[in-house]
Amino acid sequence: MYFEFTEDEEIFRESVEEFSRRYIEPIWVDIDEKNTIPFDLIKKMGEQGLFAIPVSEEYGGMGGSFMMTTIAAEVIAYYDPAVAIAVYMLLNNGWPMALDLYGTDEAKGEILPKVASGDAFFGIASTESHGGSDVAGIKSFAKKEGDVWIANGEKVFISGVREVQELPAGGGWFYLAKTGSLDWGHRNITAFALLPKWNGKLKDGFKPTLYEEIGRGGLSSGGFILEDFEIEDKYRIGEENKGFYYVLEGFNIARILVAAACLGSAQWALDQAAEWLKNRKLFNGRRLSSFQGIHFRYAELYAELEAARLFTYRAARLVDKLYMEKDPTLKPRDLNIPVALAKLKAPEAAVRIYEEVLKWYGAYGYMKESNIYRGWLGTFSYVIGAEGAQNIMRLIIARDLLGGEYIRE
Ligand SMILES: Cc1cc2nc3c(=O)[nH]c(=O)nc-3n(C[C@H](O)[C@H](O)[C@H](O)COP(=O)(O)OP(=O)(O)OC[C@H]3O[C@@H](n4cnc5c(N)ncnc54)[C@H](O)[C@@H]3O)c2cc1C
Repeated sequence: MYFEFTEDEEIFRESVEEFSRRYIEPIWVDIDEKNTIPFDLIKKMGEQGLFAIPVSEEYGGMGGSFMMTTIAAEVIAYYDPAVAIAVYMLLNNGWPMALDLYGTDEAKGEILPKVASGDAFFGIASTESHGGSDVAGIKSFAKKEGDVWIANGEKVFISGVREVQELPAGGGWFYLAKTGSLDWGHRNITAFALLPKWNGKLKDGFKPTLYEEIGRGGLSSGGFILEDFEIEDKYRIGEENKGFYYVLEGFNIARILVAAACLGSAQWALDQAAEWLKNRKLFNGRRLSSFQGIHFRYAELYAELEAARLFTYRAARLVDKLYMEKDPTLKPRDLNIPVALAKLKAPEAAVRIYEEVLKWYGAYGYMKESNIYRGWLGTFSYVIGAEGAQNIMRLIIARDLLGGEYIRE
């Protein structure tokens, strides 16, 4: 597939690179070490227009393309290869876009401008302890009483639990709960904008916990229990009992950005390795790069990354065609295979690259000082699961190619 960016996209890429070199590169290690992204960086990212990029200007967004959002996630992850800042940014773009697509005007008007400015966070809260891959099997439930939904249940492994509590306005998640009869399978889930802290006030019925992660330290992971938590009906996203379909669209959007973050981080690792391999000399002054066993592997890994990059850009262009250009020949499910290919390949290429680069660095790679391991641990979170486990990507591809009835036997 031939690929090129538009002039606007090139200009945008340069501006994000300049921003990232100036404000992110000098502090990414510190952020990973201290487990927090300073609020003044988040604020600067908001001022730079790095949140809510694909959200309409009417709701405070940039009205930009999804390709621009993808470019931003990739570039930011290059300058923060531990990926916390890129993930913060991509969540704060992908899920606001999903809200923009299906939320009420009132909720969008309230939430999206605060996300765009950096004062609030808006991520995804889907996973429950019995298995994140089984989205239809969630147990959280919400019952309507007048104009309010009373929500109960527990979510686990949710990004942004600390940030929602600490940001000035707060924020929350694209949240899923059962609202219909249990016999209806996946057709009994409703999506809501869940805002446990909003306009600076923590609401009753929200019991958060925080976990300790092994990587991407700057962004928190945690869980929460809702006990009779009240959600006004204006925060319902789309029609009742259709939340499963909206969240699948949201996952497709967010997975492309996840793939982009893995690409940026892995490219950083390959660039570090290039310098190392060209300069490290042994066996009578031979450069490491001169050994075929090394440079062939370098070429193979680059090929893997480039293939994943093309999958990712193609998927991003399709999002623009479907949602921005409203191409009548495309449906949301046409994104399934292109997106799953990108999410399948990019994190796995990244982790393979990190494992090889760590070996090329020898013992130094194993030392904290080299910082290579930070990207390894950060990108590994996307091989494990966040925004969908790898086998779920395989399942989507196989199901759409072979037909669901042939793989469910
Ligand atoms: C750092 C991090 C951040 C996260 N942030 C969020 C967040 O913000 N919001 C949120 O909702 N969730 C979040 N998650 C959770 C994430 O989405 C889940 O990890 C993911 O959906 C997988 O669920 P699970 O971990 O429960 O694993 P499981 O679903 O239990 O899967 C375990 C293993 O079984 C495999 N598997 C599952 N089903 C099948 C099948 N049918 N066929 C073959 N193999 C299968 C999977 O590939 C996986 O390897 C985060 C996770 C991490 C690691």
